[in-house]
Amino acid sequence: MAVKGLKEEIERVLITPEEIAARVRVLGQEIARDYRNGAAKDPYGRPLLVVGILKGAIPFLADLIRAVDLPLEYDFMSVSSYRNGTSPGEVRIIKDLDRSISQRDVLIVEDIVDTGNTLDHILRLFRARAPASVRVCTLIDKPVRREVEVPVHYVGFTIPENVFVVGYGLDYAELYRNLPFIGVLKREIYEEARVANR
Ligand code: 5GP
Repeated sequence: MAVKGLKEEIERVLITPEEIAARVRVLGQEIARDYRNGAAKDPYGRPLLVVGILKGAIPFLADLIRAVDLPLEYDFMSVSSYRNGTSPGEVRIIKDLDRSISQRDVLIVEDIVDTGNTLDHILRLFRARAPASVRVCTLIDKPVRREVEVPVHYVGFTIPENVFVVGYGLDYAELYRNLPFIGVLKREIYEEARVANR
């Protein structure tokens, strides 16, 4: 059976690989400058701990850390959202951090902040562990959909409309994460999936 290329399933490209690379460079410089100039609060002066939220943040984190000229460590957390029943966005930890974050400077790296519910719950989990500081860096911010106020210090791109985006880590049914750009899927892809799931 012939396998279709991924790009054929994209309606429009919103952010090109070149735009992503340029923005990541600037974010990396901002982060390095801030942590050199007062954002670091760890009383023991340990390196910044960058925490990627799996799986969507992987490509972004991989590029971002190489643009930050600071000593840093990185770790990952995987959470799943309860969509039914309990309060919206409540999260369950699937994979926890390897080490304690007590009195550490933590920078959470997210793929996208949409309603804000997931990040809000992640921040509660983190704060309960008494880090020295917590900041958040997201690749994409979709403020039009926000339901909970969440502090986001670093934003790659703000998407002003309510569109579902894929690529550069972002998935639809686990696919499209490996696209080098961020784009919008063709409508028929969603429709096909809906029919298949009936
Ligand atoms: P929130 O809790 O802020 O509503 O949603 C966060 C999660 O929803 C993200 O981590 C992501 O998994 C998913 N999400 C929200 N909007 C989009 C989108 O436009 N594209 C993709 N691929 N995932 C999204």
